[in-house]
Formats: sequence, structure tokens, C-alpha cells
Amino acid sequence: MTDTPSTGSPILQRLQNIRARIAAAAIRADRHPDDITLVAVSKFHPQSSVLAALGGHQTVFGENRVQEAEQKFPALRDAWPDMRLHIIGGLQTNKALQACRIADAVETLDRPSLSDAIAKAGDRLGRLPQLFVQVNTGDEPQKSGIARQEADTFIDSCKSLFGERLVGLMCIPPEDEPSRPHFAYLAQLARSHGLPKLSMGMSGDFEEAILEGATLVRIGSAIFGPRPTSAPYRP
Ligand SMILES: *Cc1c(COP(=O)(O)O)cnc(C)c1O
Repeated sequence: MTDTPSTGSPILQRLQNIRARIAAAAIRADRHPDDITLVAVSKFHPQSSVLAALGGHQTVFGENRVQEAEQKFPALRDAWPDMRLHIIGGLQTNKALQACRIADAVETLDRPSLSDAIAKAGDRLGRLPQLFVQVNTGDEPQKSGIARQEADTFIDSCKSLFGERLVGLMCIPPEDEPSRPHFAYLAQLARSHGLPKLSMGMSGDFEEAILEGATLVRIGSAIFGPRPTSAPYRP
């Protein structure tokens, strides 16, 4: 790397480090590093952190909350038209229209009421973001995502609603279990439905996700540092 001085901000250094680890994992998996998209998860972090990452040529960002994304992103997007925003947090149906308006991808379709709301939003806007079904691979009661048992039916119904706009599957494995079997399960499920994209792997387990076929990894703290938890985000 010649265009980013090693004396740059910690965010730039960590970004370089993560890119190198993604590339190394891809090569170990006999895959091309370019086939893996890094989604930099900037939730709770200020606009200045997003700016630092943009300065390091990071273009794809993930946010959990629509309202936070609305405060942070439109101004940046004017200056960086290449920038892409993925909504990766659980979505209320009454936020579907706003989510479709601001996002390039919504990764958290997990129930019929939400897919219906997104379909309506698409009709109104005349366009839809890329869509992913989130699967609750650990069948955890408190977690969003469609249950394993209902996944096939729900994915089929999303396919008929959205056609090619449904591009893939997403999961967040349980924290107290090894991630890899969950990634393998999601990859198999995507294959069986002919879906090309797999959003899986976070700061702690993205290399394993790449070995199981992840095409997007969502990485927050390993790039931006620990998330401020006490103070809510202020622009
Ligand atoms: C916060 C979050 C991430 C990033 O988590 P890190 O462990 O900080 O990398 C990824 N995916 C989702 C859905 C998240 O909510």
C-alpha cells in the first residue's frame, strides 16, 4: 500500500489490517479477495469516523437504525456518490419506506409483515434496495431473523415478491456457540435457493465466515474501535 501513510488515523490502520486479513482468508479458501465486500459497521460512531474510513477508500457502510443513518449519511453521500449504505438492524414495518429510501441494501427481512411493507415501499418508490433474508440460525428467542423451520417458505415467498432484488441471506450466530456451523448452514440454505450473496461474519469470526463462503462481512469494532454504549449517537 502506497497511498495510505502508516502514520494515518487508527481507523485507517485498522482498515488496512482488516483488508489484509480478508485477503489472506480468501486466499486460504481458494477464493478471490475481490469477491468479498467489506461492510464497515459504523453504528453509534460519529460522522467523523465514517469520514476517516471514506478517506481510506471504504465505500460500503452498515447501520442498524434508519434514524441514525438518516442523520449521518445523506450529507456524506452528496460528496461521495459511490458510497453504499446497508441497513443491518432489525426493522419495524413502519420504517420500511424510510429504509428503502435511504438504503442500497436491507439485510434484515425476517417476517411476512416486513416483506409486505417493503413490497409496498417498493411500489411507492418505484425502486427497491437489494434485499437479504435474515435467518435466526440459532433459533434464539430474543433475536431477529426467520426461524430455521420457516426459512424455506419465507425465502420462497420473498423470491416471488421481489424476484432478482432478493440477493442473499444474512445471519448473526449465537454468541456462546462456535460460529462456523451456523455459517455452513446458511451457505447451504443459500445454495439450495440459488441465492448468490451471503452476509456473515463480524469482527470476531469473519475469517471463518469467508472460509464458508461469505460474500459480505460486517465489521464494526475491529475498524472503528469499541462502540460508545452509554451515549446515544449525536451528529
Ligand atoms: C454491530 C453489528 C455488526 C458489527 O459487529 P462487530 O462485532 O463490532 O464487528 C455486524 N452485524 C450486525 C448485524 C451488527 O448489529
